[in-house]
Amino acid sequence: MAFIEVQGITKQFGGLTAVDHVDFEIEQGKITAIIGPNGAGKSTFFNLISGFHRPTSGKIFFEDRDITKTPVHIGARLGIARTFQTTHLFEQSTVLDNIIVGHRLRTKSKLFDAVFRTKREKREETEAHDRAVEALEFVGLTQLAHTQVAAIPQEAKKRVAIALALATDPKVMFLDEPAAGINPEETEGLAELMKKLAASGITVCTIEHKMQMIMGLADKIMVLNHGAKIAEGTPEEIVNNPVVIEAYLGG
Ligand code: ADP
Ligand code: MG
Repeated sequence: MAFIEVQGITKQFGGLTAVDHVDFEIEQGKITAIIGPNGAGKSTFFNLISGFHRPTSGKIFFEDRDITKTPVHIGARLGIARTFQTTHLFEQSTVLDNIIVGHRLRTKSKLFDAVFRTKREKREETEAHDRAVEALEFVGLTQLAHTQVAAIPQEAKKRVAIALALATDPKVMFLDEPAAGINPEETEGLAELMKKLAASGITVCTIEHKMQMIMGLADKIMVLNHGAKIAEGTPEEIVNNPVVIEAYLGG
């Protein structure tokens, strides 16, 4: 079985089929991209794998384990991380504090520990701090660690979102449009960061609109349209696929 295996996954919202019988495999250590027009079901597909939504039907396996009904916090412990848009950051807190809080929310100890500040609580605080510092270094934000998120550039916020996921020590990271709203040069920098994540052993799955970015980056691409998978293959296969050109690339 593949590292992540999705079998006939479907998600309906009322009468709308957002994801329609999608079969897909994600290989460990690779960079996989999901593309498709607005409303194609890309984010919903991510939400299904990362446990934010329950599928209407179909199954999802992660390292041979059925995670179809696994809630988010259990998925996080298994090593599944998902980035959110930068609007999920605490603008008034520092970059470092954002990462520490993000880490603690996922690994938080019981209220008892928080109240009595047990040894375990203190150990967890130190651990969260150390992991946050490491994650910031990895994404190249050490210099901005003590700056308020509100005061950093958009491109740096994208890196904070990735550092947040990284601090949970994931095996796989799902990135929802990490390069939205940044310029071509910054996009190139973000592509480099994704390569660095993959090189460090983290499986990367990204949703992306910028075809040029994906071309030099992804090992495999899946194209969604109206919730259904219309193609999958290498970047070369995708740009030359008549079905994709017709539906998506506007050919
Ligand atoms: P994409 O990320 O490809 O732009 P989405 O997965 O966000 O697409 O949305 C796919 C379809 O599902 C859209 O028609 C959207 O309006 C609908 N949708 C997404 N999330 C919900 C939800 N929580 N409730 C109802 N409809 C939703
Ligand atoms: Mg989306």
